[in-house]
Amino acid sequence: MELVSIAGFVVAFSGAATPTASDWLEFGILTAGATVHIQLTQRQEERRRNRSKTVLIDLIAVWVFPAVLVLPATLAVLVVVVIRVQRWFTARRPAHNFVYSSISHSLAAALANVVYVALDPVDWHDITALSSLREFALVLVAAAVYEGVQVIYVGGILALSEPHPTVRGVLGSKADNLLEAITTGLGAVTAVLLVTMPPTVAIMAVVTVVFNRLAELDQLQDDVVTDPKTGLLNMRGWSESAQRALSRVHRAEGRLAVLMIDLDYFKWINDTFGHPAGDDVLASIAAALRDVTRPADIVGRFGGEEFLVLLPDADGPAAEVAAERIRRTIAALHIDTTDKRGAQTTITERTTSIGVAVYPDHAATLDGLMQAADAAVYEAKEHGRNQVRFAARPDQ
Ligand code: GH3
Ligand code: MG
Ligand code: MG
Repeated sequence: MELVSIAGFVVAFSGAATPTASDWLEFGILTAGATVHIQLTQRQEERRRNRSKTVLIDLIAVWVFPAVLVLPATLAVLVVVVIRVQRWFTARRPAHNFVYSSISHSLAAALANVVYVALDPVDWHDITALSSLREFALVLVAAAVYEGVQVIYVGGILALSEPHPTVRGVLGSKADNLLEAITTGLGAVTAVLLVTMPPTVAIMAVVTVVFNRLAELDQLQDDVVTDPKTGLLNMRGWSESAQRALSRVHRAEGRLAVLMIDLDYFKWINDTFGHPAGDDVLASIAAALRDVTRPADIVGRFGGEEFLVLLPDADGPAAEVAAERIRRTIAALHIDTTDKRGAQTTITERTTSIGVAVYPDHAATLDGLMQAADAAVYEAKEHGRNQVRFAARPDQ
């Protein structure tokens, strides 16, 4: 990949015009704006990095993309370098990793510039409303090259290094890509401002700082409904989704089942191996629950070592099959963890007691279903644990 990028840089730099004084001025404005942006959003970027589970979308396109459109390739790449050097201090990533994504940004900028210049754009100072249509199309082409190179460069290596690449893992989430597209769009606006009224680029610096915060909001919204220890829905998230499912099933006069899953003698794990081992067990069981359930099922952590699963459209027999599958899957888990002294150990043969309540047989409301399933868990505990129990009918 590095060889490919060297070839790309050679092509881009050999055809690049020598920077003029006004190029250097524009370079100065863009790097100043980028510096304000980076320095004022350091804390947020760190938080974003720590949370991000997939590809990390970097908002620096606001500053790099205008350089692609306005400056020679050499200066456009220099903008990337100035930004990445500052980012190094907050990135806290392995050097090879950081260099790789820096090259990805640089190559994307260089190649997008080559393509854009080859399309022969006119000087934006003498543009008319009509001719701006063509120029806008050229900007879109440049944006497509800029994004495309990064997708291929970063996504390609992710796809090659993962044993089971997923579209989301390689290309990032829909929200991430939307964010990236908007950022590039803001970059195009910055280019127009830079050419026609340079001082207004200061406004873009403010906009990007605010925009960075908005980008974080999206993740904060996710956090509100997520249990950090297991990554499952927390009770707020589970109740919201479960209530929606219940309303839908109610309208359709259908059925659904709620499973309350309580791990047997969980306290013993904490007492024997320590609380970190207990946490590992919780995380493994959460992953197992995600694996054995269907995408439409709603899986959440109720509290300590209790989990809730809502099965839309499941009747009694279907719920029993699902609950038994969950019980058997958890019993078969081999959970690698560490004991109190930090030595490697494997925890196996963990049993669970599962209570099942079916709408509308056992209760008509979500609270009623949860209560009924919880009572069934206690039945299961009383009858020797390691089993699935149905709630009692309200009329019995
Ligand atoms: P039973 O078979 O009756 O369910 O026994 P149990 O030990 O599973 O149930 P009990 O309610 O007595 O204990 C639950 C334990 O779960 C106690 C608590 O320390 C532990 N626990 C709750 N939340 C967490 C957590 O987040 N991490 C860890 N490691 N332990 C937790
Ligand atoms: Mg419990
Ligand atoms: Mg328990």
